Amino acid sequence: MGNCSGGSGGGGNDFQSSSSAPNQNGRKDGKITVLPAAAPPPPRRPVLTGAGRILGRPMSDVHAAYIFGRELGRGQFGVTHLVTHRETRQSFACKSIATRKLLNPDDVADVRREVQIMHHLTGHRNIVELKEVFEDRHNVHLVMELCAGGELFDRIITKGHYSERAAAAIFRQIVTVVHACHSMGVMHRDLKPENFLLLSADDNSPLKATDFGLSVFFKPGEVFKDLVGSAYYVAPEVLRRSYSAEADIWSAGVILYILLSGVPPFWGGKYSMLSLWSLLDLDSVLTIFECPENEQGIFDAILRGHLDFVSDPWPSISGSAKDLVKKMLQADPKDRLTAAEVLNHPWMREDGDASDKPLDIAVLSRMKQFRAMNKLKKVALKVIAENLSEEEIIGLKEMFKSMDTDNSGTITFEELKAGLPKLGTKLSESEVRQLMEAADVDGNGTIDYIEFITATMHMNRVEREDHLYKAFEYFDKDKSGYITMEELEHALKEYNMGDANTIKEILAEVDTDNDGKINYEEFVAMMRKGNPDMATTRRRK
Ligand code: ADP
Ligand code: MG
Repeated sequence: MGNCSGGSGGGGNDFQSSSSAPNQNGRKDGKITVLPAAAPPPPRRPVLTGAGRILGRPMSDVHAAYIFGRELGRGQFGVTHLVTHRETRQSFACKSIATRKLLNPDDVADVRREVQIMHHLTGHRNIVELKEVFEDRHNVHLVMELCAGGELFDRIITKGHYSERAAAAIFRQIVTVVHACHSMGVMHRDLKPENFLLLSADDNSPLKATDFGLSVFFKPGEVFKDLVGSAYYVAPEVLRRSYSAEADIWSAGVILYILLSGVPPFWGGKYSMLSLWSLLDLDSVLTIFECPENEQGIFDAILRGHLDFVSDPWPSISGSAKDLVKKMLQADPKDRLTAAEVLNHPWMREDGDASDKPLDIAVLSRMKQFRAMNKLKKVALKVIAENLSEEEIIGLKEMFKSMDTDNSGTITFEELKAGLPKLGTKLSESEVRQLMEAADVDGNGTIDYIEFITATMHMNRVEREDHLYKAFEYFDKDKSGYITMEELEHALKEYNMGDANTIKEILAEVDTDNDGKINYEEFVAMMRKGNPDMATTRRRK
């Protein structure tokens, strides 16, 4: 279901063991040596002939040049893996975009443009370097510089202390990217924290913009109408469908507001189905199922444009920082600062107004909440869904049954297409296909009952104590009252998402008393933690 099984990444272990030593295939003396670290030979594959449908140039085999390792992340179209160059043994990130998901000419144009724009911008210190591009029968592969340092928010949170000066140093790099894009005639259109990664784990690692999937070339005065972007970050003129590059400044302003306070400036209030969809990483499902209560709430708040500088921690934030936020979040794009002006703002300048005084620690804890739920929580939700009683899920079951017209226990594409209008959604064929692909991770072309229930179960069910207890018991196999490392490992393996790192991450996040295991209280706290998750929408309707 969604990303529940996505964390595993094919061949992760192969990669780990084969990457540890340099490899020489033969020796000059003619003797054959068997080196444990020898790279496996490229898989035998049919020779690729002809031009690729997407890039229009000869197809080529990425596996002949790179060994695929663990999954690094996934988005709407792409799955990114760690890859190792077979000859140089250097590590890279490879984003593979499934061409079968590129149904209409717009999608194809998007991918072409993503490649062009990355080539165009490559060379900037804060933009991820594109190394090479492949197209085979099933995918377009973008091999790029590996950002091994992880996500920006994770870094801020693990550091544990944070000041306006630190926020300014981070934000300067973000605005530098915006400035580089705009001066090279590119509008980014999807600026948000998740699209900035750290190159390495070093303290002074540069921040890199990684995702140009929604970017476009623009000319001065050109007006755009596509409604694209991510809900929290979208500018009011984008919602009104008449915008240009100033929309990026707005999005950057939203990022700055979050960097200073830990929460987004415009949000829809309480959570709904939307949170659940996003926590399952079913981005495209989320796009399709309209979530009026929530997404519309965010949009209304953006159009109202009221900025809260009254709630904590704003009273203790410098006037200069607030001045900059205000000037970036001007409702009228003409009144907004340009990227160059932002870089020259007194708060932004090195040794400028931003002080070294630590920010309220609540900022960090809110930022932590604002991130996507951790992986254990996702597995736990799946366990809960599997353990809900008949009566509790009767409504959902009816919904599923009404779609599963041949009573096979699975919903096919045709059934979904016919059934969704009954639930009040008006979807195009390609959108139904997207929904199907998002939910159907095992790729067998159908959504099963558990997948459906997991995805549609309402958030408030999670809060019910008995469900939580059931989920806890599921993990705590020996009924010791604790989830131990081994139990966690076992559970994550079962759901095909465990490597040592994931387990460490989960423990670090959930184990608040630091005893190396998770007790029931910690488990409940994790499950109850607010989930004002990022709402991503990428639609072009
Ligand atoms: P999408 O367009 O599908 O959102 P992204 O380019 O944002 O795809 O990549 C999806 C995820 O893959 C990212 O959120 C990140 O976790 C991971 N990722 C992407 N590029 C890199 C990279 N260069 N190094 C490390 N991880 C990456
Ligand atoms: Mg992305």
